[in-house]
Amino acid sequence: MSQAPLLIYLDGKLVPESEAKVSVFDHGLLYGDGCFEGIRIYNGRVFRLTEHLVRLYESARSICLTIPISLEEMEQATLQTVAANQLRDGYIRLVITRGVGSLGLNPYQCPKAGIIIIASGITLYPKEKYETGLNLITCATRRPAAAALSPQVKSLNYLNNIMAKIECIQAGCEEGIMLNEQGFVAECTGDNIFILKGGQFFTPTISSGALNGITRQAAIEILNDMGLSVREVTMTRHDIYTAEECFLTGTAAEVIPAVQYDRRPIGSGKPGPVTAEVMARFSKLANSTGTPVPYA
Ligand code: PMP
Repeated sequence: MSQAPLLIYLDGKLVPESEAKVSVFDHGLLYGDGCFEGIRIYNGRVFRLTEHLVRLYESARSICLTIPISLEEMEQATLQTVAANQLRDGYIRLVITRGVGSLGLNPYQCPKAGIIIIASGITLYPKEKYETGLNLITCATRRPAAAALSPQVKSLNYLNNIMAKIECIQAGCEEGIMLNEQGFVAECTGDNIFILKGGQFFTPTISSGALNGITRQAAIEILNDMGLSVREVTMTRHDIYTAEECFLTGTAAEVIPAVQYDRRPIGSGKPGPVTAEVMARFSKLANSTGTPVPYA
């Protein structure tokens, strides 16, 4: 992470972080009305930038939010923000707010969406957890049904996930499993989940309430390259209790082992060998592919 004050992209301009401010009348703040993406920079390249931008524009379209610049312009703005901050490794937070409007829900009173791009760093879990593995609980907070709000919309209102995260922290765990309304496993508070059982990998279907994670997709490709099949299934807690290995995926988390669930060991209770291989391959993939940053 660079030491100098960050330059933030705000509505078309790069401004010092001390000047990067939004109105108290922005509906992103008033109602959590907007959407976002988290993206990684590895070794001077942005990992799966197009995939993240496609998902961002789909989130926006789903909530009738017009992003005032094209996907290609957003790509350039993102790369320029990373370059301006001289970041070779880091994290990009791309935020689209509904924009400034009057008090009251009506989004059509907000004439122009706001665009914020922050390129900085992120540390989600302590480094040793990648060697020792995470402990998970079952969160009482359920994922909302798609009919309430599609889990595919990465909205600025993450309270559902935050409520579940509070449960994890209060239980002394780093992450937790969120079930859908039917009681099937959807995902974790900010990560997707994979389990190994009988030589096959399993992950919950998107229709179970899981976000279609970019890292999830990368993990599926890696497992297929390793000659392992991945089945997208309706997953129960029993499946995790009886799994041989388990790992989580996410842009911030990358690929991380999980070794305990509801205080029961998963498999041997230690990170498994296949998980270690997936982690190594993910690191290689992330550090050798992606859109190059146009540094000056
Ligand atoms: N689920 C949720 C709820 C998330 O917020 C995230 C992180 N964006 C993920 C899964 C993982 O998705 P990705 O690999 O695209 O970061």
